[in-house]
Amino acid sequence: MVKLSLCQYILHFGQFKIEKNKGGTMLLKKEYKYAYLGYTAEDKSAMTEYAERYRQFISKNKTERECVESFISLAKGYGYRDLNDLIDSKTPLKAGDKVYANYMNKTLLTFCIGSESVSSGLNILGSHVDSPRLDLKPNPLYEDNKFAMFKTHYYGGVKKYQWVTLPLAMHGVVAKKDGSVMKICIGEDENDPVLGISDLLPHLSADQMEKRLREAIGGEDLNICAGTFPIDSKENKDSAENKDAVENKDKATTDKVKENILQILNTKYDITEEDLFSSEIELVPAGSARDYGLDRSMILGYGQDDRVCAYASFEAQMEVNNPKYTTCSIFVDKEEIGSYGASGMQSQFFENSVAEILELLGEFSNIKLRRVLANSRMLSSDVSAGYDPNFPSVLEKNNAPYLGKGVVLMKYTGSRGKVASNESNAEYVAKLRDLMEKNNVTWQTGELGKIDQGGGGTIAHILAKHGMDVIDCGVPVHSMHAPWEITSKVDLYEMKKAYVAFLKDA
Ligand code: MN
Ligand code: MN
Repeated sequence: MVKLSLCQYILHFGQFKIEKNKGGTMLLKKEYKYAYLGYTAEDKSAMTEYAERYRQFISKNKTERECVESFISLAKGYGYRDLNDLIDSKTPLKAGDKVYANYMNKTLLTFCIGSESVSSGLNILGSHVDSPRLDLKPNPLYEDNKFAMFKTHYYGGVKKYQWVTLPLAMHGVVAKKDGSVMKICIGEDENDPVLGISDLLPHLSADQMEKRLREAIGGEDLNICAGTFPIDSKENKDSAENKDAVENKDKATTDKVKENILQILNTKYDITEEDLFSSEIELVPAGSARDYGLDRSMILGYGQDDRVCAYASFEAQMEVNNPKYTTCSIFVDKEEIGSYGASGMQSQFFENSVAEILELLGEFSNIKLRRVLANSRMLSSDVSAGYDPNFPSVLEKNNAPYLGKGVVLMKYTGSRGKVASNESNAEYVAKLRDLMEKNNVTWQTGELGKIDQGGGGTIAHILAKHGMDVIDCGVPVHSMHAPWEITSKVDLYEMKKAYVAFLKDA
């Protein structure tokens, strides 16, 4: 028999084991469990097929507007109808009916009416469809020494040095005074040009290399190079009716390279420089998401925070028909900048839509609305920081989520002592543990990094204000908020299963 000080007692409790270490302190330590080893051949092919659908979705949908537009067109195919049409036609709702509500083309709600009274609350999945990126400034275009350049203003929490020397694509809309809205997408087709931001060569980086990482590339250094050819007035003059006017204009034009870019935009999209003021144009990494790893076990892609949860929520919402409790999936804008604004979670759109649903069910009253919200259950579908062997020091390994260990139930987020977090109720967590077990979902716990390393938050606390049960539930990510983020296919698959189970049975 070995001495107590040398032996380790291990007791298994579900996915945890309690380990007695050399000092005799009891530690709650996670047992590393490969969910993958429990998979049947069917599981493996379902996982691969799901990951491929997801990979294609995030390759094509890189802005909140693109996600909302795609979700609406897909949802219509599943029988979802526009809430505004139902309000206009005073169409009553009944169990099994499917409704969507579109807010400013950037936030979407989907509902499927349950067989139980709506007063018993909704089963809600809440994800966000905005992601960190570079936005064009309101007056973006200028010329500097024969270079046409765009000024950008970064959106959300980005490490600015990661955004230089990358192929970037322009996605967005330009709204014109006549009410028309032009959609822009340049850089995704392989025959398209791409844009980008240059960095300094190492040979001349003596000063830059002395700077702190956060200052090495500054916010005002994120200027996009748009082109170098000057406008060729000969081409215009040959085809113009008033050749003198063209020639005079040409002489008066000093910024000929900028002028050329404006002409390209005008020819392709019928927009002027002033129209850019009423635009929302986002610079995002160009190109498709890819399988990652020699074993293809992961996905590398832009905007996985939080489209990885949005896509799983969407598929789950579409799959669950005739639910017991009314289901609701939220796909919200503006999470990355604090959920402010009319299309952010702090706006009233969600409460307003639930009120409209109650009205169409013939059940609206102020007190009923409050009851519905307070009696609801929610998974705040958002990602967490996965343990990374390259950066082990910022995560506490007994409480960090791991890629490949399944969907994460994160009891709290916040920073500096859980400040600003929604800490879920123990009773609710217990109920979800039971739900996951009954539905054969592999799950893990998580915490957002070591204490006092930083922190973060999600939309969880905003919905919790209504008095409903909320917990953060998503997948661990590597390189979160970087141009290319990484997730595990196993986790994607377990998350989708978890969301379906939640909508059906929570
Ligand atoms: Mn984020
Ligand atoms: Mn997020």
